[in-house]
Amino acid sequence: MRKVVLVSLDAFFYADTFRISPDGFLSRMFREGAFCRRVETIFPALTYPIHVTMITGCEPDKTGVGQNQPPQPGVPQDMRVWYWERKNIRVPTLFDAVKSAGGRSCSIFWPVACRNKAARWCVPEVHPLRGENPVMKALRYGNAAFELLAEAKFGSLRQGISEPGLSNFAAAVAANVIRRHKPKFSAIHFIDLDEARHKHGVFSPEALAALERNDARLEQLWQAMQATPGMEDALLIAVSDHGQEDITETVNLTKKLAEYGLDRELFVQSNGMSACFFPGPGYSGHADPEKLLPPDKLDDLGISRLYTRADLDAMHAVEGPLFAAEAKPGVVFSDALDEEKREAATHGFGPGREADLCLFAVRGKGIKEGVEIPAMHMRDVGPTIAGFMGLELQEADGIDRSAEFLA
Ligand SMILES: [Zn+2]
Repeated sequence: MRKVVLVSLDAFFYADTFRISPDGFLSRMFREGAFCRRVETIFPALTYPIHVTMITGCEPDKTGVGQNQPPQPGVPQDMRVWYWERKNIRVPTLFDAVKSAGGRSCSIFWPVACRNKAARWCVPEVHPLRGENPVMKALRYGNAAFELLAEAKFGSLRQGISEPGLSNFAAAVAANVIRRHKPKFSAIHFIDLDEARHKHGVFSPEALAALERNDARLEQLWQAMQATPGMEDALLIAVSDHGQEDITETVNLTKKLAEYGLDRELFVQSNGMSACFFPGPGYSGHADPEKLLPPDKLDDLGISRLYTRADLDAMHAVEGPLFAAEAKPGVVFSDALDEEKREAATHGFGPGREADLCLFAVRGKGIKEGVEIPAMHMRDVGPTIAGFMGLELQEADGIDRSAEFLA
């Protein structure tokens, strides 16, 4: 019954495995452990659906979490809720499997894990909507007593929710839980690299500095494990959710639908480099709704291809959208009427890009050394981690690949 410390390096992808310092901790994890740098992610490449797939072994057609936010037509950006809570997931998670086996879990900023009864220690990933108090919201969505202790001990490491302080705080809180409580399963989410890429670009100096900070955080957790009796045989697993691509052009699809007189027919939700189209208030029930978009305007709309509902079903996308659109390289979709995206890079795309290839690296007792697994799928992550812990995710569609990593 191995213990696992799972760390998500948000926005780390294939190309980074050739850019990290050869002397850094992640390179050492590759040499002294086993890894895969071609973990194919899901559609759309968004943080929340992917983290849910990791932790369940199921894709959005089964988890119900297919975007970061439920569709909220007409609601301003700063008033839209996200899929923050555990109850949004329709299938069992690793947290549930651990709890059923009598183990205790820790969840630090893990997405879609708020109000999770199966996590004994939880710092929630949630943010305030307009007019809400951020502190009160975090206390309501996590484990208040634990959060207050964590804040008292490590609150000086962060300045609100800005990076890199927030991820430094997450690492310190997680290391402390590992030392004090030796959880069976810990899940920690570092947002630092994702934020640096959004703000400054995929391979900006700021992003490369965030890669190094993540190295240091992984090492901090590893040291805490090695120094704690009962945790020294645990596995450290580093995963990622998606890469990013640089933005050269923004297309506001909501404005475009209005221009083409389609704003009653269709409602669009932008997911960065893809977009989902839902029935609008005056939807006429078209047999091929993707044909509502004028074919000669697709280039103008920044669309490289359309996904029909049958395509979405084949990709195990969530139910709801009539069809979806993939952005041309460099194009980002925006659907906020009065605001344009002001980011340098983003994600949300569909299959076939290098930035779809993610990380799964594991180091610890009993793991092969210096072995690279050629390919995995994101839905295999959860069952594989369950396999390491001697557990099973019974509803998972992914495969338990743990035997390939074990010596
Ligand atoms: Zn992400």
